Amino acid sequence: MAGEFDLIDRIRARVLARADVALGIGDDAALLQPPLGRQLVVAMDTLNSGVHFPPATAPADIGWKALAVNLSDLAAMGALPAWCTLSLSMPEPDPVWVDAFLDGFDALARAHDVALVGGDTTRGPLSVCVTAFGLVAPGAALRRNGAQAGDDIWISGTPGDAAAALAQWSDGGTRDPVLRARLDRPTPRVELGLALAGHAHAAIDVSDGLLADLGHVCRASGVGAMLDIDAVPVSAALRNAVDDVHARRALQASGGDDYELCFTAPVSARDAIVAAGAASATPVARIGRMIEGAGIAVSTGEGAPWSPARAGWDHFAG
Ligand code: ADP
Ligand code: MG
Repeated sequence: MAGEFDLIDRIRARVLARADVALGIGDDAALLQPPLGRQLVVAMDTLNSGVHFPPATAPADIGWKALAVNLSDLAAMGALPAWCTLSLSMPEPDPVWVDAFLDGFDALARAHDVALVGGDTTRGPLSVCVTAFGLVAPGAALRRNGAQAGDDIWISGTPGDAAAALAQWSDGGTRDPVLRARLDRPTPRVELGLALAGHAHAAIDVSDGLLADLGHVCRASGVGAMLDIDAVPVSAALRNAVDDVHARRALQASGGDDYELCFTAPVSARDAIVAAGAASATPVARIGRMIEGAGIAVSTGEGAPWSPARAGWDHFAG
């Protein structure tokens, strides 16, 4: 059986090189050379087995997701990812598992030119904690507190897919591979976050559900929101999996794990936002308006008030 140091060697053999890593894995700590005149953006997220991913999730998908959720936080700040660290806790030192985990982790790290520069390897229940480090020009970070009454509310992608996959998984029902990929391999919207700099007033990544996360923006900014739930784009896979319109709206409003960006921008920036979406090859849609006050008023496309409270998983036709 492999020991801790074998595992670290396996990890070290895989990592991508970057010129700004003066010292990577192998010493007591890493030495990084941030460019002059940039702020360091730091995000950390942990994935626990059974809590943040189904225990049956493939190791490569766990690797991808552990990095993706952190890059998503950097994206929501408008930051350019640069480095990361990885704390890995597993019941037994399992080199096969670690290799498979690295397949997913490394694929995403390479896609974003992120270097793994250190970490920790311990024995315990399966848990993966990543810290991601990114760079942003001073003053350019997209924060939660910048939304203004009158701003448009925008969303990337098609929220609800990951929650639909999770519901299918817990029902033991059909597992649509398209939905499942949206749960297991979320796409961090890094390029969009970068393209929004100078245009968006506020941004957040949707990890806990659109209403919950937009609620954070409202509270941080001291404003309210009007949301048209039927303006939220629906994927073909979600439409196919859930016939009931109310259940579908509920997944889109309250389902977590999508890692899409929800952001606000002034009406004058509409063309710039559409251009940012096109430049980053990321679909973006306008779904509401920030208003004076507090809280989120949700309506249907016909303008009728709508609340997710009536919806339950029973309506789910998976
Ligand atoms: P120390 O006892 O000094 O903390 P470790 O044995 O924990 O050293 O780690 C040795 C080296 O391997 C360090 O550079 C550390 O950052 C790196 N490392 C350990 N575990 C991981 C991991 N899961 N991913 C990346 N680097 C790791
Ligand atoms: Mg250590």
